[in-house]
Formats: sequence, structure tokens, C-alpha cells
Amino acid sequence: MGPHHPECPDRLAAIQDRLIASGLDAYLQHHDAPAADIDMLARAHSPEYLRQIFDAVPGSGIVHLDPDTAMCPNSLRAALRAAGAGVHATDLVMSGAAVNAFCAVRPPGHHAEYARAMGFCFFNNVVVAARHALEKHGLERVAIIDFDVHHGNGTENIVAHDNRILMVSIFQHPFYPYSGAEPLADNLCNVPLPAGTRGEGFREAVTTKWLPRLDAFAPQMLFISAGFDAHYEDDMASLGLVEADYAWVSTELMKIAKKHGKGRIVSMLEGGYALSALGRSAVEHIRALAEL
Ligand SMILES: [Zn+2]
Repeated sequence: MGPHHPECPDRLAAIQDRLIASGLDAYLQHHDAPAADIDMLARAHSPEYLRQIFDAVPGSGIVHLDPDTAMCPNSLRAALRAAGAGVHATDLVMSGAAVNAFCAVRPPGHHAEYARAMGFCFFNNVVVAARHALEKHGLERVAIIDFDVHHGNGTENIVAHDNRILMVSIFQHPFYPYSGAEPLADNLCNVPLPAGTRGEGFREAVTTKWLPRLDAFAPQMLFISAGFDAHYEDDMASLGLVEADYAWVSTELMKIAKKHGKGRIVSMLEGGYALSALGRSAVEHIRALAEL
């Protein structure tokens, strides 16, 4: 993304460092992410848009697709692997080779719309994974859960009216990208939270808004847009979650997954820009998924 950009390679190192320091690392399977192919991406994006992204890769230097979203010569490779990670994770979970999976990927995906790159995102990783579960593995109902501090406008744009998918989300509002207060369709459960909301308000929203919808929908698999930028220490936004809140919501989602979906969860990294808080929060999320 260029120097001094918050969506930086250090984010993945921060997670990896904390995983090692916590001792959790030794208990996890690790898999390299393969690149997604065009057919996988076309489950979430228009053919014309995919052509534009492939054509936009610069030979050198940086090109901007929007004021926040830049490409260098290697960005496409990273974006393809970020999307491919979710597909591979879905295959591992569906085959029983893994109970659940966390994909430590960048660039993130939830702002990428059907035909638009935006907000550091090129391909909507979580939708590519969810649609793979539906179309390749024959599932009939999956849920997307988005606890990134920003509204997942791209995910909403792509999955609105796809009644095989229930999307539940929380996000600071009003705040970038200034959408989501009125959901686009009935298969979306959007919970805007005012700036300053802390763990108590977040947990109440999850308990009263998300969990009843998820339970009624009975998803056969859960896909999480795991952004950690609602953390108290993250200057990108103004919510006040802490590690214990991420552990709590992860455990609640595990209960839904076990009840309806054989425990199947694929979680994908979205935002999270305060490096220490990102590492600590992601590790608590992974600890809950691993039940360690
Ligand atoms: Zn975010």
C-alpha cells in the first residue's frame, strides 16, 4: 500500500509473534494459502471488474484504485492468496482435516464490492469462501459474521438478497464507509453502534440482535470477517472492545456453529491496525476457536 499506510505487512507479523509468545502456535496446523482462480473470484465479482484488477497491476511503483487503496507489482499475488486462503480453509474444514480455521491474510476484503475495489480491499475474501462452501460443497445455508469496526459494505453489496447467506454485523456508525444503517435486504442484520460503545454494549448487541437471528437461520457453516479495529487501542476508530470481548464473541459463535454446523467456522482477518492490540486480540480469537 506504500509507506506509512496502516494496512502494512507488520500486521501479520504482529499476529504471528503473539501466537508464538502465547504458546498457541505449537498446537495449530499451518497451511500456505494457494492463489484463488478466476472461477472462485467470479462467485463474488463481475468478470469485467476482475479484468480491470488484473490489468491494473503496475510493472513498478504504486497505482491508486481509490484514495485508500493502492497496488504495487506484488499486490495481485497477495490478493489472490488472501482469497485462496478462505477457499482452502473451507476445503480443509469441509473434509474434516480441520475443525475450524483462521486465515491470517492481507489485503482484507469486506469493503470490496461486486465491481469496485475500496477501503484497502480488492477481492471479497469472505464471500469467495462462503460461496465456495455453497456452490462447491453443496451447503444450503451459511452465515457471515462481521465484527470489524467498519461496515462491511462490500459483503452487503454482494450477498444482499442471496437468501442462502445470513450476514450479521456490528460497526461504528456514522463512520467510514457511512453505509449500513438501513440494510439492503432481509438477509442482513446490521447493528450500528455509536462511537464510544464498549464491550458491554457490544455484547448486548450480539446477544439480543445476532444470536437469535443466527439460531433461527441454523447456518451449516460460519464465516467470520474478523476485524480487530474496534479495539480500544486502535486509533482508526472509536469503539472500546478489548481482548476479552473478542474471546467472548468467538465462544458464542462456536456454540452456534456446534449446534447447527458441526462446529464449522472459517474466520478471515479484516482490519486491525494497532499492532499490539491486533496481535493480542487475534490470539484470543484463535484460542477460543481452538478451545485451548
Ligand atoms: Zn475495519
